[in-house]
Amino acid sequence: MEQKGIRELKANDKGECNLTRNGGFSLKKMSISPPYSPELQNHLIGKHLLAFEIPFSQELLAEHIKNGYVSETCGVQSGNGGYRCVRCGNKDQTLFYTFPCKICNQDCTYCRSCIMMGRVSECAKLYRWTGPGIQFKIPDNVLRWAVTLSAGQQNASDCVVEAINGKDEFLVWAVCGAGKTEILFPAIEAALHAGKRICLATPRTDVVLELSPRLKKLFLALESRPSMPGVKIAMVFRH
Ligand SMILES: [Zn+2]
Ligand SMILES: [Zn+2]
Repeated sequence: MEQKGIRELKANDKGECNLTRNGGFSLKKMSISPPYSPELQNHLIGKHLLAFEIPFSQELLAEHIKNGYVSETCGVQSGNGGYRCVRCGNKDQTLFYTFPCKICNQDCTYCRSCIMMGRVSECAKLYRWTGPGIQFKIPDNVLRWAVTLSAGQQNASDCVVEAINGKDEFLVWAVCGAGKTEILFPAIEAALHAGKRICLATPRTDVVLELSPRLKKLFLALESRPSMPGVKIAMVFRH
């Protein structure tokens, strides 16, 4: 029963609520969202993962798909132009291969372009987070680094920072030992402050192994704060 000056919350069968006052006019529309797992959100966000790469129960995953927080798509799809890999975007038909699949018991096509990350085929499902995003809180002193760059390094570093801020492309080309890695640190710091995510890609495992502890030490503040879920340094390498 409505009373003067009292707001009433009416929920429909979709879980949406209309906030009404005495006259019944709508003041504000809001929805009551089902809860979700921050751990699953943190694991999936920004990625396309296969089932074996998701260390959560099938029930939890199914619940999130039902509530619209996770999407499930076939890894390889076919259309007018032929096959397309949903994970790596490959459309080169020479990089697809059709084989008698024991999982779906029929001829099944997989992507050879990203096979090093695990086989994505027509019957393999890819999962992606489609729910709420993660809000990052980056501290001012995110980079703990006291080394001074040389004049040449500083110049290159400033250019990389400028490229980050301008969403531009920039190539630093220098000989081994010139200090290219150090040039990146201020740029990574600038990108973090701008709310961006950083991907460092290298074809060499030894570089990953060498760089990983350095970055974790320099940007340790990111991982040690529970108030910043989702902010972490992850190193992945496969041969
Ligand atoms: Zn692919
Ligand atoms: Zn199959």
